Amino acid sequence: MSALTDLNKEIALCRLCEIAKTRTKSVPGEGAENAEIMFIGEAPGWNEDQQGRPFVGAAGQFLNELLASINLKRPQVYIANVIKCRPPGNRDPLPIEISNCQKWLDKQIELISPKIIVTLGRYSMAKFFPGKTISQIHGTSQTRNGIIYFAMYHPAAALHQGNLRETLKRDMLKLPPLLAQEKALKIKAAEEELNPEPRVQQLSMF
Ligand code: URA
Repeated sequence: MSALTDLNKEIALCRLCEIAKTRTKSVPGEGAENAEIMFIGEAPGWNEDQQGRPFVGAAGQFLNELLASINLKRPQVYIANVIKCRPPGNRDPLPIEISNCQKWLDKQIELISPKIIVTLGRYSMAKFFPGKTISQIHGTSQTRNGIIYFAMYHPAAALHQGNLRETLKRDMLKLPPLLAQEKALKIKAAEEELNPEPRVQQLSMF
């Protein structure tokens, strides 16, 4: 069994928060263990709580569509959430829940080691882009410690505000070039390490 499977089993049994008492199932996450792109949403909703799987409701349907627009299917990426249990009545996650769950998300990121982390919505964005607002930074990226962080609106936002549908679609289309650029930079860096440029000789004029 893989370290990620073990970790997700541990997450499924976590009872650190009060909301562990009201959950049906916890929702650790799912997808490719070596995914290049990891999507991080906010918290499980009703459908996710029933099934123990992330993004399986209406927002998930739209996420699937967005993935298809860049020729990806769910098993090729990793999908997780900032918190792993459903807040009752779909209320916003509490700071204590976010901090209790932090160790799980950190460990998932460490094991998956994605090239790109896509934050979906405000709570996920706040973890990786503190102090920013989603309307300002959606569709933009920041690279830190070898990981590209890319902010997007939450797919559920487009279900309430139809105009965000196109914004989400446009932002999603930026991911393949971002990944290609990252790979090209890594290849260049590896080549330079193998074949360091010969030192350019200073030509004497005399
Ligand atoms: N919204 C989220 O943020 N995560 C899910 O898993 C489902 C809906």
